[in-house]
Amino acid sequence: MSESKSQKMESLIVQACHYVDEVSGGISPPVQFSTTYARGRDYEHPGKYSYCRADNPSWEVLEQVCAQLDGGAEAKCFASGMAAVCAFFETVNTGEHVVAPRVMYHGSQDWLRRIAEKRSIGLSFFDAADIEDLRRAIQPGKTTVVWIETPVNPTWEVIDIALAAEIAHAAGAILAVDGTVASPVTTRALEHGADIVFHSATKYLNGHSDVIAGILVTAKMDDRWEEIKLVRTLSGGILGPFEAWLLLRGMRTLFLRFDKASANALQLARYFEGHSNLQQVLYPGLESHPGYDIAKRQMTQGYGGMLSLLVDGGAGQAKRIAGNCRLFVRATSLGGVESLIEHRASVEGPHSAVPQNLLRLSIGIENCQDLINDLEQSLESL
Ligand SMILES: *Cc1c(COP(=O)(O)O)cnc(C)c1O
Repeated sequence: MSESKSQKMESLIVQACHYVDEVSGGISPPVQFSTTYARGRDYEHPGKYSYCRADNPSWEVLEQVCAQLDGGAEAKCFASGMAAVCAFFETVNTGEHVVAPRVMYHGSQDWLRRIAEKRSIGLSFFDAADIEDLRRAIQPGKTTVVWIETPVNPTWEVIDIALAAEIAHAAGAILAVDGTVASPVTTRALEHGADIVFHSATKYLNGHSDVIAGILVTAKMDDRWEEIKLVRTLSGGILGPFEAWLLLRGMRTLFLRFDKASANALQLARYFEGHSNLQQVLYPGLESHPGYDIAKRQMTQGYGGMLSLLVDGGAGQAKRIAGNCRLFVRATSLGGVESLIEHRASVEGPHSAVPQNLLRLSIGIENCQDLINDLEQSLESL
């Protein structure tokens, strides 16, 4: 695997960082399904593998590509995004304090609330649109982890990663970033000072809505990272060999897909901004967006494919608009090649803080005019 610094990641990733199989010369890695590895006569292991839950040759190329993609020291893959989130939070001990955004991916927040209560971990939330609120939420000497997500799901506030890292580090805490929505195409969180970056690889990295996987990437090898690896081995939230192979295949077109989704989303957001049946279009690439200036600095290659519409009316009206769509698929998730629409509050349930009139759109790589036409006819048929 080449470390060619002169080549852009966009070039490296399509060739899985110049992968060539040493045995066959194949340019796609083989999949090893074996769960166990034979020992020699003297009981030694001839290779570095013993049992598939601890080490697995099918993860290696994927993990090396992911580490390079985010500019980290090492990457590890997990059975799902949430398996990676859980492994990360296993490293937080009783008596410590964690800070996270008040509105964020609901699965991560639900898990955080659960372990905070069970393990007596302090937990404070801050307003993602106000970095000073993060400063206030920190308890110096007690806060060990600041967990952020940017843009924040599903309202797309943008958090300044460099500033968040500065605030966390000044208090002796680490900064972990959920980079799922921005993807490493447009934001490499470690370069902005984050210590760990997380991706639900189910989304943009795989991009075809057919693999569930999670990735953690560390800036440096430290005790916390060793613990995360141990947790993966012992708790068993490991990625299957075929899923690892599929994910790497999907990642080869990551830049192409992300660029097209970003271009589509920007065009669509501009078209519908100010539409008479909508209160607001929430998209970090719109100049009217409160986080636009940070996004412009931090999202270096497009604003991504995620946007939300605040419709004129309530939950009923929002659901009718989704119901009238013919091209947009009514489904949860994001980052796939196909465009999805969902009434987020219904997905998150009765405790959701998401506005009832919010529709979340994951823009795919279809023809943009077709997407605009579909949404337009849906809004007009009310
Ligand atoms: C989907 C998602 C997760 C959880 O990942 P899974 O792969 O579904 O377990 C975490 N964070 C964000 C922002 C997500 O979109």
